[in-house]
Amino acid sequence: MSKEQVFQQRCFFPLSYVTIIQSGSVIYKWKLMAYPLVLSLIYLLLPWTDSTPCAVQMNTLRDLKMFYKYSNSSNPIYSIKQHLVQTKSMEMASRIIFLALVALASTSPAMASDPNQLQDFCVADENSAALVNGLACKDAQMVTVDDFFFSCLDKPGNTSNAVGSKVTPVSVAQIPGLNTLGISLVRIDYAPFGLNPPHTHPRATEVLVVLKGALLVGFVTSNPENNHHTKVLNKGDVFVFPQGLIHYQYNNWTANSVAIAGLSSQNPGVITVGNAIFGSTPPISDDVLAKAFHVSKETVDAIRAKF
Ligand code: MN
Repeated sequence: MSKEQVFQQRCFFPLSYVTIIQSGSVIYKWKLMAYPLVLSLIYLLLPWTDSTPCAVQMNTLRDLKMFYKYSNSSNPIYSIKQHLVQTKSMEMASRIIFLALVALASTSPAMASDPNQLQDFCVADENSAALVNGLACKDAQMVTVDDFFFSCLDKPGNTSNAVGSKVTPVSVAQIPGLNTLGISLVRIDYAPFGLNPPHTHPRATEVLVVLKGALLVGFVTSNPENNHHTKVLNKGDVFVFPQGLIHYQYNNWTANSVAIAGLSSQNPGVITVGNAIFGSTPPISDDVLAKAFHVSKETVDAIRAKF
């Protein structure tokens, strides 16, 4: 095997995976994510010796020839040693930059929400028993325009409940054509002083626009800061709730309010904090909740009774 071949194997092999990751389909991105990480580790752990057959090493040999030929140094051996130290430092720097790039390429799919579709559409086939990430595709020949349609979102939701708000979802369950498209929306109605209680969407960022009335909204950042970002929104105002963060909307006045929100998932999911903690089946033990919330078991029982 020639030096060039070894060089290509050791130096270009990991890079080729980065290229595949950037240009490949989404499904393969997930599978391939592991490869550059593993290869990077191998790459980093390659023996740190002069025999490392990499670009810098080949340059080193060439540069050394130049040193022998043209150096005016009074101590050529010392100069060569200095040169090798510098070359190794550069090689280390290039490895660190390479690993940083691989980390960047590897984490970008993880920042997305739903994966991108691999065809024009994949209308959900509610009769399919196939287990896939999302829902199986209906035969494209059987797809009709109504698979992409939903009506009556102009009708107010019924807010006669304990919190005084109603979310009307328009996700893949309502529009099968949303399957694989990574988007959905909701209408939210608020009675006077109605609350859409603190909740989180595990799979979506939410962008909300107030159509009528006014809302006090907020979200809280993750640990350890737990910064509370809050604002009063009026008609026409838009606010973003980042994916996964706990957020709420409160209709802090005496008339109804209405909002529409877009979500970056066909099926964003909702975890309402109070319901999940105090209304789970079976219940989380009193000991756990009393300790978690720094209150007595009696207080836990009193709260749980409300859910
Ligand atoms: Mn929400």
